[in-house]
Amino acid sequence: MAEKIMIFDSTLRDGEQSLGAKLNLEEKLKIAQQLAKLNVDVIECGTPFSSPDDFKAVQKIAREVRGPIITALARASKADIDAAWEAIKDSPRPRIHIILSSSPIHIQYQLGKDPEAVLKIGVEAVKYAKQYTTDIQYSLVDATRSELDYMCRIIEAVIDAGATVINIPDTVGYAVPEQFGGLIRNIMNRVPNIDKTIVSVHCHNDLGLAVANSLAAIQNGARQIECNINGIGERAGNAALEEIVVAMLIRHDFFQNYYHEIKMDEIYKTSRLVSNLMGVPIPVNKAVVGTNAFVHSADFHQEGIFKNTATYEIINADLIGGKAANMALTAHSGRHAVYNQLKELGYSLTEEEFAEFYTRFLELAVRKKEVLSDDLEALMNEKITYAQTVYSLEYLQTIGGSNSIPAAIVKLRKDNEIYVEMQTGSGPLDAAYNAIDKITGFQPRLENYNLRGVTEGRDALGEVSIILRYENKTVVGRGTSTDIVEASVRAYLNGLNKLLALQKEEENQC
Ligand code: MN
Repeated sequence: MAEKIMIFDSTLRDGEQSLGAKLNLEEKLKIAQQLAKLNVDVIECGTPFSSPDDFKAVQKIAREVRGPIITALARASKADIDAAWEAIKDSPRPRIHIILSSSPIHIQYQLGKDPEAVLKIGVEAVKYAKQYTTDIQYSLVDATRSELDYMCRIIEAVIDAGATVINIPDTVGYAVPEQFGGLIRNIMNRVPNIDKTIVSVHCHNDLGLAVANSLAAIQNGARQIECNINGIGERAGNAALEEIVVAMLIRHDFFQNYYHEIKMDEIYKTSRLVSNLMGVPIPVNKAVVGTNAFVHSADFHQEGIFKNTATYEIINADLIGGKAANMALTAHSGRHAVYNQLKELGYSLTEEEFAEFYTRFLELAVRKKEVLSDDLEALMNEKITYAQTVYSLEYLQTIGGSNSIPAAIVKLRKDNEIYVEMQTGSGPLDAAYNAIDKITGFQPRLENYNLRGVTEGRDALGEVSIILRYENKTVVGRGTSTDIVEASVRAYLNGLNKLLALQKEEENQC
């Protein structure tokens, strides 16, 4: 009988950690809800010990997202475990995830302890967490550079203490598939009480082998795979969720003893949402979800595809929901058609919400002849983007071009006041940003700028995501418009509004 592989998503923990920017509560909740629709088995949604914001986001997800197990990270200390439990306890399926290093280099330099003491700390942590819940995951950080005998002793002891999932992370992305598979097999064979737990793996992609290592682990006994949407994670990232689940399905002949329960037709949507909200573009040639993943360019390939798609295509875009309902709407489509299309995409709006959405739809439909489902998704994401608005854009005019002095006039609204500024700059965008800085009195640093066309064509919606830093705070700002200067200005304002919200929160906490 085929065995289930649990899919553990860490996009909101390892993924967010890698951004250098914090998502806000609404954005995290939106991603978690979409992960639940994708039907992942476990959502790891943060590190409650690290900050009050993180704590609140995890708590919100635990309270509102149903279906998957909700877990949060804790180092092996009482304070961390308390924070994790407080944050997740309202979920019907809470799991505490304890991490502690097991490699000589980490034990000596990071922890500054001897191995026996570390083993004891791990056991004590599991026993302490057990008072709260039965579902305890224990991770041996830097497992691939640890001694096998020592790891086996830790694993046996923490299982005795009550750990129900043992995670073997390739923290530094050092493993190669055959070796990593061998490691998992050795653990399965040598730890006497291993049958009382699920063995999990968490692979990083520093050598581009995260997915291959994860698949090798499955064939050697692992029954839970930690992976992230679009492979987002620390450094070169984690194993990409979409690649693992698609590989298991397409190569069912090879993986016939295993199955997962991911809803494949939610993959495309989840991938775009995460990319959009986190401000991390998907490379065009990315496996499964890149825009070129299903494009055939060479003449002789096209000829084959024309005769039979199976000649050069092993995955069909339909499988991941890539082509789902890409029907064009226009300004004449009417409320009903727009409403139905939204429903098709999985959104149910109240009458009031829909009225607001429809106005925005019409604005877009006037500028852009055909409004596609990707455009509708982008408009839906705007709703979260502009949730916390202090300054809003009233008017924007820019001058640019060769041999001109770039300038911008910006009119912003704050409460009921209108502010106008005109500034010059190295380009129209720089000029507009200067004008905004002049009005707000803030000068955040632009750390990253990404522009993506939501659909094809010259009238496509441009989606801009930027990373803004001010003092010790970093946020992702996003904006959409058919005019890329306007989209960029909206992204800047969105980032600024988020920074202001963070500042206000900090003042309230003081
Ligand atoms: Mn990691």
